[in-house]
Amino acid sequence: MPVINRIADLQPEMQGWRRDFHQHPELRFEEHRTAEQVAKLLASWGIEVHTGIATTGVVGVLRAGSGGRAIGLRADMDALPMEEATGLPYASRTPGKMHACGHDGHTSMLLGAAKYLAETKNFDGTVHFIFQPAEEGGAGAKVMMDQGLFARFPCDAVYGLHNDPTLPLGEADVRDDVMMAASDRFFLTIRGQGGHASRPHACLDPIVCGAQIVGALQTIVARRVDPLESAVISVTQFHSGTAENVIPDEAKLLGTVRTFTPATQDLVEAAMRRVIEATASAHDMVAEFTYRRGYPPTVNHANEARRAVRALETVLGDGRVHRDKPPVMGGEDFSFMLLDRPGAYVKLGQKDGTKGAAEVHTVQYDFNDDLLPVGASFFAQLVEQEMPRG
Ligand SMILES: [Zn+2]
Ligand SMILES: [Zn+2]
Repeated sequence: MPVINRIADLQPEMQGWRRDFHQHPELRFEEHRTAEQVAKLLASWGIEVHTGIATTGVVGVLRAGSGGRAIGLRADMDALPMEEATGLPYASRTPGKMHACGHDGHTSMLLGAAKYLAETKNFDGTVHFIFQPAEEGGAGAKVMMDQGLFARFPCDAVYGLHNDPTLPLGEADVRDDVMMAASDRFFLTIRGQGGHASRPHACLDPIVCGAQIVGALQTIVARRVDPLESAVISVTQFHSGTAENVIPDEAKLLGTVRTFTPATQDLVEAAMRRVIEATASAHDMVAEFTYRRGYPPTVNHANEARRAVRALETVLGDGRVHRDKPPVMGGEDFSFMLLDRPGAYVKLGQKDGTKGAAEVHTVQYDFNDDLLPVGASFFAQLVEQEMPRG
């Protein structure tokens, strides 16, 4: 692999950081030790450091030349509340916490790129190294943005990456559009009026109303969503009643929605609200509907995706980047940054035989340290390619 030579030399150092982070995993918004290490290392290379954004977020600013362009490179720092079972010598020293998604590796890669770029400064413009907290369910990216991330550190484009244990080391996966889904939840309570089951006319039956709502919701995907788009509406729970001869007062329904574009997500939520309210109203009932959005879909910008592919092909070689793998149903909070700034999210394969092959979010997972120079080279190559020195 033609990784940048100087970065290949940094592999042992990056591996040292990575295994140190791995031994000291910290959960969302508690990444104090990790953030301190990151800030200390960045400062030691002469990079301007800003801390305390979204509690533990860190931004490093590196300028070279006089160019006005700025690129944001993002890594996540948080671990998961899981009990590690790898038995590795550098396994987690904190019971119940584990780097099971490889964010220890992502942080170390970005540090490697920062060290190289600070040494070489072979670019013209500004790099913002964004180390975010709480990717796992805390929307740390969004919290940093809400605290003025892109106002304080303007970025013409942002790039992020994730390791992928299902893809061989030396390969990557970049689509020009959607990479990951939005995953939302909904909760619905239909309030009727209970009574004797032999006297339905004196009741308002929430079960009949709920059954019609379940059926009507399915028409949204079938009739309102573009057939070439993807969407799932699943009612997964329907609770009502206590006896065979009593019409209950209320019914509770819960479920999940998956979509791949913000437009479809908006369309589905609005249509569900209309269908539910109108159906309940037709039955003289009231429905309380709560739609809770998770992370938005992770959608690459085609232009930036192609730029990322160019950098990846320089590092990995031609033909090593998959362009049309199907998107996955998992979520990622880099999606918030991609809604605000042009950019791309790439997946880097890390499977090498059994090494790096355990799936993320499992107790056997470990980041493959052989991927460190690949990710760091990708980030560095991207900067030199996108902001070339005149
Ligand atoms: Zn994860
Ligand atoms: Zn992750």
